[in-house]
Amino acid sequence: AKSAGGNRYELADAEADARAITRHGLTTALPAALDRGEFFIEYQPLVHLGDGSVHGAEALVRWLHPQHGVLGPDRFIPLAEHTGLIVPLGRWVLEQSVRQAMVWQERHSDAGPLRINVNLSPCQLTHPGLVSDTVDILERVGLEPNSLCLEVTESALIGADDDLLKPLRRLAEMGVDIALDDFGTGYSNLANLRRLPVSILKLDRSFTQGMQQFPADPVDLKIVEGIVSLAHSLDLAVTVEGVETGAQAEQLRLLGCDTAQGWYYARPGPPDRLHDLALVDATG
Ligand code: C2E
Ligand code: CA
Ligand code: CA
Ligand code: CA
Repeated sequence: AKSAGGNRYELADAEADARAITRHGLTTALPAALDRGEFFIEYQPLVHLGDGSVHGAEALVRWLHPQHGVLGPDRFIPLAEHTGLIVPLGRWVLEQSVRQAMVWQERHSDAGPLRINVNLSPCQLTHPGLVSDTVDILERVGLEPNSLCLEVTESALIGADDDLLKPLRRLAEMGVDIALDDFGTGYSNLANLRRLPVSILKLDRSFTQGMQQFPADPVDLKIVEGIVSLAHSLDLAVTVEGVETGAQAEQLRLLGCDTAQGWYYARPGPPDRLHDLALVDATG
């Protein structure tokens, strides 16, 4: 038993080593990956819960690694944040996404201005170039600021002081929407919401998971109902993510949520897929 235990520990050590090597390998490969164009973006539609029409899409970055294949953001965003590469990578994601939104808008003016949501890392928030880079990209591409939504996690803004909020406030004044991502996981003080320059609450997937049964757990229903009514009373729109079934979509619609995102509508995919979805919309 002792030697088996010993082997298990050795195995665990070996796995930890392999993970550390991969982490190290991925970290050192990141800068060249950006230069070589190994990153790409998938877009996941956001729909209006009322009528199912397409509202826009969230940009989700991936890394096509020459050895490991496609890596999801959870594998490399933390590494990029650690090394600071997240700033140029985030700028690249923003520029690509804004360009893509412009292409959609030019091709589908009849579908209403499709909007683009882009995730911001906390490191980008504290970077002094955030406002000027964003303004520069919007102006060069010609996209209206109100077609852009920047998603910031609730945890990044907990306890945020005015210095941190200033750039977000500037962007919000220009018309850029700020969404509070993963809302409900950060235990933020709800009264604090009034202080933040946000216009959208993005309810965390854990709430959507609570809506799997129909009818959903009454406590879950009450919580979401409370969040939605608080949000609406503060003039905030509510987006839900992780919607996987029609039952979830229906309950969240009945609870008054405004827009939704999830596999039930579409998985993240290449940009042209949004054309198809939006076109179906526009032509009925
Ligand atoms: P997030 O912002 O909360 O994005 C939603 C995640 O949920 C995405 O995972 C998406 O693919 C996944 N998802 C969407 N619909 C469903 C569903 O119906 N069911 C389930 N189970 N999952 C669903 P993904 O693409 O792996 O991204 C993970 C996280 O990585 C994102 O979470 C975001 O925090 C971060 N991320 C992605 N792209 C970027 C980026 O360009 N910059 C930064 N800073 N972070 C990014
Ligand atoms: Ca997000
Ligand atoms: Ca989220
Ligand atoms: Ca999340």
